[in-house]
Amino acid sequence: MIEDLMSKITSLAKRRGFIFPGSEIYGGIAGFYDYGPLGVELKNNIKKLWWQEMVYKHDEIVGLDSAIITHPKVWEASGHVTAFTDPLIECRSCHKRFRADNLENISDKQKSKMLSKQSLTDKNKEYIKNADKVCPDCGYAINTHVDTPKQFNLLMKTYLGTVEGEKDATYLRGETCQGIYLNYKNVLDSMWKKIPFGIAQIGKAFRNEITPGNFTFRTREFEQMEMQWFIKADLKESEKWFTYWKEERMKWYLSLGFKKENLRFRDHEPEERAHYAKAATDIEYNSPFSWKEFEGIHNRSDWDLSRHSKFSGVDLLYTNNETKDKYIPWIIETSAGADRMTLFALLDAYHEEPENKRVVLKFHPKLAPVKVAVFPLMANKQEIVDKAKSIFDNLKLDFHTMFDDIGNVGKRYRRQDEIGTPWCVTVDYQSLEDDTVTVRDRDNMQQERIKISELPQYFTEKLK
Ligand code: ATP
Repeated sequence: MIEDLMSKITSLAKRRGFIFPGSEIYGGIAGFYDYGPLGVELKNNIKKLWWQEMVYKHDEIVGLDSAIITHPKVWEASGHVTAFTDPLIECRSCHKRFRADNLENISDKQKSKMLSKQSLTDKNKEYIKNADKVCPDCGYAINTHVDTPKQFNLLMKTYLGTVEGEKDATYLRGETCQGIYLNYKNVLDSMWKKIPFGIAQIGKAFRNEITPGNFTFRTREFEQMEMQWFIKADLKESEKWFTYWKEERMKWYLSLGFKKENLRFRDHEPEERAHYAKAATDIEYNSPFSWKEFEGIHNRSDWDLSRHSKFSGVDLLYTNNETKDKYIPWIIETSAGADRMTLFALLDAYHEEPENKRVVLKFHPKLAPVKVAVFPLMANKQEIVDKAKSIFDNLKLDFHTMFDDIGNVGKRYRRQDEIGTPWCVTVDYQSLEDDTVTVRDRDNMQQERIKISELPQYFTEKLK
């Protein structure tokens, strides 16, 4: 059933032009995906709405677009070069990585419990039967004969220069926030910012994930939407802002129609926090493959700016002009994934309505890749087609609009339902007489007659 929903989403995503497997004609490449015509609209809507929410709504936040490639020392300072080079073994189920020598042996009882599950493939059974260790986190079997410990470094190396043998090694960024730290002083000086203030950025990040999977949930190239909030160096102050951002972020997902029962916070235990974090919470989504993180909120203290100050030799102290206090600001980070949000938006929106013989993506209208579809009732009646075309031309720059004259109207409704278009406009014989059209609502399938001249206003109101 669970696999069923994921395979339905994966197949709908491909069939209807949302997400395609990367390099498919060459047999594919694990951990990379391409966004099709509707996928790019959905993901762009998510990024645009995030930007509006973070940068335009919060007066003290400004935007940034920093380079993907930075000086290699950035990744030494950030701890990524050293923190990820232990020989680690990764659990196939929860994907957490552990030092192989710290793992407990698996008991026969644990094995037989796992083997009693009916959904196992023969390959899984074989793996569990011969397993020797157990995952300390989720309790799944680990078979160190198959999964040997590896030197894990998630950073993707690349080389600058053209002469072989003289190229400089550096990395594609593993997270977008480092570019924000590098520009913290530039933004502070150029924008006359005072603490507290934030810098927001959306951009690609790259990680050599050992086990990419669950469709676009874990990929090797993905987009992050990160905001770093610079505050006074004070534990109490940091706790206040940590709570503030947790609430703000959750409210945002709810405002976009995500089902409340599918979202929750999960606070990290001290031992599972990243090396820099004083406190950490995930916003998790109730996915078919269990509750999963799609945004992290972290109290990073002064770790990042202190490290960059030390490694670069540049003073990154903030001076309070009134009190003349000097300190390295602390940081609260909100770090979300645009790809995971796109996937969870698809999962959350997916509905099967056998009674209406339809599959429908009930996206919040703001997320919907296509807002309006315009149909001429008869594709061979020139006057109706011309009128529909002129409505389409009039709407298309303000609302992403699709023109469809293929098949009968019932089929066109089903096609639009399946891609989540909230409104379908049909031009019929009556339209020629009184300049009205029908507007059909995706969710309740009701139709209203609206004046053509009032359509822009009608959709603007609906999208508010
Ligand atoms: P995970 O534990 O799932 O690997 P993480 O804790 O390493 O995630 P962060 O470093 O906190 O993730 O990154 C912030 C956000 O970036 C995540 O919440 C997620 O939405 C996104 N993200 C991280 N890694 C990936 C990935 N490999 N593929 C897609 N999105 C990712």
